[in-house]
Amino acid sequence: MSHVFHRHCHANLPTATGGHGIYLTDQNGNQYLDGCCGAAVTSLGYGHPRVIDAVQKQVQDMTFAHTGFFTSEPAEQLAEFLAINAPGTLNKVYFTSGGSESVEAALKMARQYFLEIGQPSRHLYITRRQSYHGNTLGALGVGGNQWRREPFAAIMTDAHYIDPCYAYRDQHPNESEFEYGQRMANQLEEKLRELGPENVAAFVAEPVVGATAGAVPAVTGYLKRIREICDQYGVLLILDEVMCGMGRTGTLFACEQDGIEPDLITLAKGLGAGYQPIGAVMVQQRIFDAISSGTGFFQHGHTYMGHPVACAAALAVQQTIQDDQLLNNVKQMSTKLFNRLHHTFSDHPYIGDIRGRGLFVGIELVADKDSKQPLPIESSIHTAIKAEAMANGLMCYPMSGTINGRDGHHILLAPPFIINDTQIDELVDKLEIAVNTSFKKLHA
Ligand code: PMP
Repeated sequence: MSHVFHRHCHANLPTATGGHGIYLTDQNGNQYLDGCCGAAVTSLGYGHPRVIDAVQKQVQDMTFAHTGFFTSEPAEQLAEFLAINAPGTLNKVYFTSGGSESVEAALKMARQYFLEIGQPSRHLYITRRQSYHGNTLGALGVGGNQWRREPFAAIMTDAHYIDPCYAYRDQHPNESEFEYGQRMANQLEEKLRELGPENVAAFVAEPVVGATAGAVPAVTGYLKRIREICDQYGVLLILDEVMCGMGRTGTLFACEQDGIEPDLITLAKGLGAGYQPIGAVMVQQRIFDAISSGTGFFQHGHTYMGHPVACAAALAVQQTIQDDQLLNNVKQMSTKLFNRLHHTFSDHPYIGDIRGRGLFVGIELVADKDSKQPLPIESSIHTAIKAEAMANGLMCYPMSGTINGRDGHHILLAPPFIINDTQIDELVDKLEIAVNTSFKKLHA
């Protein structure tokens, strides 16, 4: 009997015993191609010698020094690396241990900023119905995933919601993609007027939606319009790049491709690529300055923030991605992956949409391709596809949820940045078998 409180209490999970390149191995010697990096985490694959060396060296030199007493070389170097490579003046880096912690810190930083600059009425957050920002109460409070929120609604602070940017489902036939994006972004302005902009601290959004809908990039111009509205009404823009950041979309930060700079950006997952748990919030210099010249400290903190071993691992991960020019591989393999997916699934009766950016790809499953009718949640097709894929040596990340009152099933693909041509073929071949076998069993 296992004493681990597994999240899925009855799950009979294999034991992961080893990892090499893009493959994990279990206790019986079965190999799994990691087609989703767990949940968009292990961007550099498993067992990378440069990262292992960096971790071992740091453990030997200095494992832990509490940030209330010391800074550390790895924390300073990683912050410098991020500041140099981030867009514009996102100059200050606040370290955390993961994504939810990053979002919590960003929400509180936005609030403290407005207290420091004498705008105490700004305390509300606007976010989108199709979003996931983490599972701690503050982060869950600004998320739009109803299923995750429901049991805890009574103990959460509510956010205020606008619609997501979800062209496949919501773009009108008589409007261009650009017009659609502007219409969606303008919902933010309407919501600000409704709430009174002087009461709103920040708008929070994922540039490419991840865990609620299997990778949905915003259409061109959407985030630019969001940025304009935030500027006009003095509201901070928090972009949550926990899942889509750190190279996943082909640029280090996803928002680079939207041509905008947020006020705060949250990071985790790919930052340490699973070699250590680490997250971060990057902030504009002026936000740091307001807090620094006001109270003089940010009223927040966690014991393991800026952990030297985690920072050393993340620095080695990011330097490897840069030195080995892996973002070029992300772009090349992205083209190959999309081509293969379109070739394999474009005529598939139950695949409605294939979308994404870089190696961050969402596949939407439907009951009927023409009407886009979603499959009923009870079909649990996502569970079936995950099980079939695992049985066939593939990790992919199928998900389901009710978004905006609509059921939806999606598969997220997010393979490591080191994936090669033949491995893309292997991934898609195995996925095709998993999808077809699952639908055959569903209809049997
Ligand atoms: N934000 C986003 C966009 C995420 O995708 C996630 C995790 N899926 C989180 C926050 C929470 O991160 P963590 O699970 O590391 O707390």
